[in-house]
Amino acid sequence: MIRLRSLQKVNLDTLTNSYNFNAFLDEVNKQLKQKTQTSYAMFYTDINQFKLMNDNFGYQEGDYILKTFADSLLQIGDTNSILCRITGDKFALFLAYEDLDDLTNRALKLQAVSKQVCSPSGEFYKLSVRTGIYQIQPGDTAIVAVDRANIARKYAQLQRNGNFEFYNDEMRVSLIEQKKIEDVMEDALQNGEFLVYYQPKINITTKKICGAEALVRWMRPEVGLVSPASFIPIFEANGFIVNLDYYVLDRVCNRLRELIDQGFSVYPVSVNFSREHFKSDALPERLRQTIQKYQLPPELIEVEITESALASNDRYWLNLLNKIRSYGFGLAMDDFGSGMSSLNLLCDLPFKVLKIDKDFFHTKTTNIRERIVISSIVTMASQLDMDVICEGVETEDQIKFLQSIGCTMAQGYYYDKPLPSDVYEEKYLT
Ligand code: C2E
Ligand code: MG
Ligand code: MG
Repeated sequence: MIRLRSLQKVNLDTLTNSYNFNAFLDEVNKQLKQKTQTSYAMFYTDINQFKLMNDNFGYQEGDYILKTFADSLLQIGDTNSILCRITGDKFALFLAYEDLDDLTNRALKLQAVSKQVCSPSGEFYKLSVRTGIYQIQPGDTAIVAVDRANIARKYAQLQRNGNFEFYNDEMRVSLIEQKKIEDVMEDALQNGEFLVYYQPKINITTKKICGAEALVRWMRPEVGLVSPASFIPIFEANGFIVNLDYYVLDRVCNRLRELIDQGFSVYPVSVNFSREHFKSDALPERLRQTIQKYQLPPELIEVEITESALASNDRYWLNLLNKIRSYGFGLAMDDFGSGMSSLNLLCDLPFKVLKIDKDFFHTKTTNIRERIVISSIVTMASQLDMDVICEGVETEDQIKFLQSIGCTMAQGYYYDKPLPSDVYEEKYLT
């Protein structure tokens, strides 16, 4: 049980029966001052999208979840562990541990018990939590330990599928960089620093272009051209990606309109939309408003949504996808094969296009069994009346293999890298 021996009520968070922040720091500092051989760690953890739970289930249920979650946290410590609710759904846990394996096991146990949190009626909430862990060093104070565990938690938030991270000094540097990016991102969008590059999609048989993908780049003053891998995770964590995606959509539509007006034959362009769009139901209308603004037919825009965005969140987004399709937009599942591909997704969801992930293709075609898997996916998709396009195609051999299994479209460096719009238009549009 938690150490609450001589604790007065004023030092308690009454909801979760844990320490409040100041009392927690005092208790931890006391413990750290006692010269023992014990290793201590600080966990800093919060519940993903807890606000949504409050919104969906109401505050009473929200409180119940917090209380039960606090109990789960205590299960990973021992009799001398100290728990604190810092604010809202953020908790710190101070505990003793034996070695790194022991600590990792406790972090894994926390993931597991979070999935077991039950509602009063006995339903599982399956909470997903992000945790930062700091292994306390001699001389550290409680506040330093909390700060570092929190840095590791923020870092875990930036990682796809990241559940917990151990603190290291590089994380601090990367969070400083993140802060810099967040300070300038709004102005960067206003100043037109985000550029849309286009990568052609090619019909393997005719060798002719059949579409393009819009991929964002950031021309940062004094830094140069920055690739999305270094800013998209940050924008996904802080929600700014939603604005950026809409901006890219607007620029793509604007350019299509100009090109059509100048008499060019244009091809459909796919635009990437982050998982963050699933947190509201605005996307279908926004798509429709934008094509109306530029007087474009919906078939010219294809919405790309990465497979991993669909793995969580229950079926909340099914309506959204159905609407997008019913409005006549293209809809592609991006990066298929990169995560826990669920074939059910293919059956149930209204995707028209399947994009096979570049890594899946690269690392696995050497193996005959994997070739069978890819070729079966292509067959199955075509039987489901979906188009299949393979991403990241770099060699002639890969093209031959794709041809042999009936995959008709490819995108990759073999044909072209993503190109600045003027270069793309010069080379591909007539
Ligand atoms: P993605 O949508 O799967 O895009 C394909 C990525 O593969 C692009 O990286 C592209 O440059 C790269 N690629 C294409 N052909 C090859 C090849 O032959 N070999 C290799 N090794 N790579 C190839 P990029 O442009 O760096 O984009 C990375 C990811 O960033 C995209 O993956 C997408 O998830 C995200 N992204 C890019 N632009 C946007 C955007 O406007 N909004 C959102 N939400 N995400 C975006
Ligand atoms: Mg994509
Ligand atoms: Mg992709």
